[in-house]
Amino acid sequence: MMLQSELVEKVRAYDPSADAEALVRAYEFAMKAHREQTRASGDPYFSHPLEVAGILTNYRLDTASIITALLHDTIEDTEATSAEIAELFGDEVAQLVDGVTKLTQLELQSDRAKQAENFRKLLLAMSRDIRVLLVKLADRLHNMRTLHHVPKEERRHRIAHETMDIYAPLAERIGMHDIKDELEDRAFRELYPDARDSISRRLQFMRSEGDSVVEAVLVELRAVFAEAGIGADIAGREKSPYSIWRKMQRTQSSVEQLSDIIAFRVVVPTVSECYQALGVVHGRYQVVPGRFKDYLSTPKPNGYRSLHTSVIGLADHRIEIQIRTRDMHDVAERGVAAHWVYKETGSGPASSALREENRQYRWLQELLEILENAAAPEDFLAHTRLEMFSDQVFCFSPKGEVYSLPRGSTSIDFAYAVHTDIGDKCVGAKVNGRNMPLRTALQNGDQVEILISKNQTPSPDWEKLVVTGKAKARIRRVLREQETRQYVDLGRSIVGKAFDRLDEVLENAPLNKALREFHAGSTDDLFAMVGQGVYTGRDVARVVFPGKADGGKSAKSTNSIFSLRRKKPAPSGGGEHAVPISGLTPGIAVHMAKCCYPLPGDRIVGVMTTGKGVTIHTIDCMTLEAFADSPERWIDVSWDPDSDITGGELVSRLNVTLMNEPGSLADLATTIAGAQGNISNLKFTNRTADFFDMVVDIEVADAKHLNAIMTTLRGHKSVSTIERARS
Ligand code: MN
Repeated sequence: MMLQSELVEKVRAYDPSADAEALVRAYEFAMKAHREQTRASGDPYFSHPLEVAGILTNYRLDTASIITALLHDTIEDTEATSAEIAELFGDEVAQLVDGVTKLTQLELQSDRAKQAENFRKLLLAMSRDIRVLLVKLADRLHNMRTLHHVPKEERRHRIAHETMDIYAPLAERIGMHDIKDELEDRAFRELYPDARDSISRRLQFMRSEGDSVVEAVLVELRAVFAEAGIGADIAGREKSPYSIWRKMQRTQSSVEQLSDIIAFRVVVPTVSECYQALGVVHGRYQVVPGRFKDYLSTPKPNGYRSLHTSVIGLADHRIEIQIRTRDMHDVAERGVAAHWVYKETGSGPASSALREENRQYRWLQELLEILENAAAPEDFLAHTRLEMFSDQVFCFSPKGEVYSLPRGSTSIDFAYAVHTDIGDKCVGAKVNGRNMPLRTALQNGDQVEILISKNQTPSPDWEKLVVTGKAKARIRRVLREQETRQYVDLGRSIVGKAFDRLDEVLENAPLNKALREFHAGSTDDLFAMVGQGVYTGRDVARVVFPGKADGGKSAKSTNSIFSLRRKKPAPSGGGEHAVPISGLTPGIAVHMAKCCYPLPGDRIVGVMTTGKGVTIHTIDCMTLEAFADSPERWIDVSWDPDSDITGGELVSRLNVTLMNEPGSLADLATTIAGAQGNISNLKFTNRTADFFDMVVDIEVADAKHLNAIMTTLRGHKSVSTIERARS
């Protein structure tokens, strides 16, 4: 085990200003905290944090990171507390240790490989300070180095899979290539020992075969380019067994068939020399068809530029060659993001998301370079925040599944992301174990448990509380269906009432015959149209029972069965109908006001309007205030007791607030119909989770009739308020 003095020496070697005293204290604190704990290998547990710290010294990390490495398992595994660490080592270290502890806890929550990408992003997003991530990766690396000590194969496999799916890509993503390679290779060895052995043996054999192939190719290529007068830098690199194996799987080929087990890079001074070099190679060796790619004239979306080709015969092998300039080479090597994007997503049209990812990655890559080269790394490390996924949050289900959601998403979005049914039926949410309002915006790492009730349906309010398209679309659709159902119920009861008047029973068979005339696809369609006021119940009755309905006295109110309901058959004094108003010059035009809808029995007043005749208002109508200054236009009128205008001829308007619950609208309609009223129009003015506000136009005999209906409705528990329109 490394001594404290050795550790201090290592750090001091690259950072002479490092706080040796703090390092020693952390060393002793962690050793004491882990005391008798042991690793699977039988080693004292403290050897693990110490090794992690050692790995990080290779990356020349600052003292706070090294101390964090020493302490990284103390909160999770020992009695040490965050407060204690803050007191002994300061807030900065305490926060870093907290960050690593959180990642460790996250790691325990999910083992579902298929969510690996979300999980990686979550880890990145959660580790707001890049040092947290670096410590975590070093932690994983040491755990992989000691994996063979873990006795249970199942557990070893789980850890290896997780490493392959999550940590290796994460390491690659932040530019830690050697860590990535080692993680992958160790996981590969654990999961597919036979495959790795056979590839390694094969590579060994190919290497030994007539000295080194790489060396032979290098010698031959150098000679070829020298002869052509091209000054080229040439390098060859053997790929790792794991990447060869992956490629073999992808292309269904054997090791021998893989031309790019060894790839050669030819770096030349200028673009024109790139093409010259290509010409030389193609002139000399047989080209493998379909392998030539010109990323020089057509760069990859991520900016990668190079010429790729494969030839046969170079040192008796099939060889892949990449040709580029020094600048292009630098970009390709430095902007590893480019490499990552290209490998993970394949080549494709440049999307802005790709470019964005690339840009974000570049930034991180540059940061790491600064770290490697900086004299005082802590200047750059401290307070560096990872904001790579600032537009997303990552949340867990209780089972540990990770969901990625746009920032600002609520528990309702989460519920819909899990399943449409869960969304529809959600009544509440527990976030991190606590009941929270559904509107609460979720944070990274929140664990969300959705509470459901089978009676719940989406509320109109929800539309404003969600940000995901899936949730929005679904909520809208359900609300529309609900509304349609309400209209169907309403229409059915209106038609039923109309049939009642003719002593007919509402049955589907006769209705079906009428569907075509109403351009309805089904009886429900027809009911919905009646409910929405497109047709009246009488329109339907007239078509279904032609002779019967025409004989009734209601026939005079409209001429066409297709007349829209909203064209109310309001009495008009200028027409042929009797005006139920006395006190007016015969022949003058009379209108019932469309603000207060007066009914016989109401106290009324007429207002003279130039060119329009007289408009009748109720005495308490708000509109009358507008005429307060012109008393000369007011006319005393009263209802004509001898008029034969009766129920169904006059329309009045009610403002109703109804509880939003199943059947409440149909209940309203049934009650009105049962009291001999006829709903001629119905319109929602406002809908909330709990209530509908709506306007109901209703044909009644007189004010007394309407009052009776209103009184009955007030007795219903689903009716919250009901009053006549007065303005
Ligand atoms: Mn650890």
